[in-house]
Amino acid sequence: MVAVVGIPFDAYSSFMLGAARAPAQIRDVMNSGAGNLCSESGIDLAARTDFIDLGDMDINGESDAIENIEATISEILNRDCRLISLGGDHAITYPILRSFHKKFGRLEIVHLDAHPDLYDTFDDNRFSHACSFARIMEEKLASRLVQIGIRALNQHQKQQAERFGVEMITIPHLEKAASTRLAGPLYLSIDLDVLDPAFAPGVSHHEPGGLSTRQVIEMIQQLQAPIAGADIVELNPKRDPSGITAMVAVKILKEVAARMLELPLGLT
Ligand code: MN
Ligand code: MN
Repeated sequence: MVAVVGIPFDAYSSFMLGAARAPAQIRDVMNSGAGNLCSESGIDLAARTDFIDLGDMDINGESDAIENIEATISEILNRDCRLISLGGDHAITYPILRSFHKKFGRLEIVHLDAHPDLYDTFDDNRFSHACSFARIMEEKLASRLVQIGIRALNQHQKQQAERFGVEMITIPHLEKAASTRLAGPLYLSIDLDVLDPAFAPGVSHHEPGGLSTRQVIEMIQQLQAPIAGADIVELNPKRDPSGITAMVAVKILKEVAARMLELPLGLT
C-alpha cells in the first residue's frame, strides 16, 4: 500500500510563509479534471486499490509540531503503508525520518534540492527548514545522504557536509547522479526548488539555474532501489498564481507513486 498524507506546516520557513497551503492546492489541481492519474509508465493510480489518500494531518500549533508529525507518521507506517508526504516546508522531513528510522532502520536518503539544508541552526531555530538534514545526520537516521542539484552552498554548509559525510552532487557535476549506485531501501525527499524557477516558480526561495521538470522525472524513473517513503515539499501557492508549480508537484507525485508501486519493498 502506498499512502499520501498532507502536512500543512510552514512555521519553520525562514523567508516566507505559504507552504502550509500546498497540500490543499496539490489536491485541487489533481482533482481539477485537467489531467488524469496515469504515470508515464502506464500505472493508473485512480484504478489502484493499493494507492490511497489519507488527507491532511492536524497540526495543532507550532510548539509541538515536530513531535506531532513524528507520532502521526509512525501511526501510518505501523499500518504497513509506504508513505508520500506532501509539505509543508522542508522542516517536516526531520520528524518524518525519525518515524521511518523506527520502522525501517537507517535508510539511504536521496535529497533533491537547490540547498543542502545542513545549517546547524538558522534564525535561532534548530528545527528550521534550513537545518533538517543536519538533525537527520546528527541522529544517524540515514545510512547515506545523497544530495542532488545543490547550487547555493556556503562555507558553513560545506563544512557540515564534510562532517556528516554527505555525498553532494552539485549542479556543475549533475552527470554524477546517473552513476550513483543505491542499494535501498530509499527515502526520497524532493524540495521543489531543485527545479529551475522557470519550471516551478511557486517556491519561497528562487534559485535560478536548476533542473528541468523532465530531468527530475527521469531521475525518479531511473531509481532502481525500492522506495520506502518520499516527500514533496516547499510548494508555495502564494507564488504560483498560474498553478503550474502545483501541476509539477502532481506530476512528480504520480511518478514517485508509480515507481514505489513498481519496485515492491516486501510489505503488504
Ligand atoms: Mn531548497
Ligand atoms: Mn529544502
